[in-house]
Amino acid sequence: MPASIAIDGPVASGKSAVGSRLARHLGYRLVDTGMMYRAITCLALDKGLDLHDEAALAALGASVNMEVTPGPADDPDASRVLVNGTDVTNRLRSPDVGDAVSLVSRVPAVRKAMVAIQRDIASDGSVVMVGRDIGTVVLPDAPLKAYLDASVEERSRRRHAELQAAGRTESIEDVREQLALRDEIDSQRDTSPLRPADDALVIQTDNMTIQNVVDRILEEV
Ligand code: C5P
Repeated sequence: MPASIAIDGPVASGKSAVGSRLARHLGYRLVDTGMMYRAITCLALDKGLDLHDEAALAALGASVNMEVTPGPADDPDASRVLVNGTDVTNRLRSPDVGDAVSLVSRVPAVRKAMVAIQRDIASDGSVVMVGRDIGTVVLPDAPLKAYLDASVEERSRRRHAELQAAGRTESIEDVREQLALRDEIDSQRDTSPLRPADDALVIQTDNMTIQNVVDRILEEV
């Protein structure tokens, strides 16, 4: 069995849903690293930091105390994140955090702090880790790497449906715009841009269900 499985991909490519099913199936812990970047973004917003002030964000990254409890195999989505002692898990999906997170996560000192924690968690093995740079930077030696992709239209549809199910009212146009903007910042940044690792299994998921994608990865396992 692979000690770790890296799953990367753009916004709403199905990473979290696939990672969750995979972790449950294999009895692995699930670490959704997007939660960590969202958590430090909560802190930056609470402190009223200018999101274009790289030095201030770097100082925050260097000093933040983050505790991550990965979701256990029997409840992969039950992960919690504490920043400086406060549990911010319930705030991570709020729109203000989604709008700000890519500006915070592009700062190298922020990434350095998050990557150190992620590697520490993965060193215990039996982990599915989901993000943007897991196969390229965080766990370059992961024995199994998947990169999930889908067209912007399909990903906008998926994210819009998810938001509607959660009672939110954004239009699909707004969802598409926000998603495309976040993808652009994530893939254009200098440090650890979003891209597939050379040895990743790239899966185009447009016409696949979540279970199809899980099954494809399990074939590799
Ligand atoms: O996956 P999720 O949409 O929750 O990620 C939120 C943001 O966190 C991404 O848009 C990206 O800016 C950042 N992120 C990252 N590296 C990761 C995971 C997430 O830069 N490994």
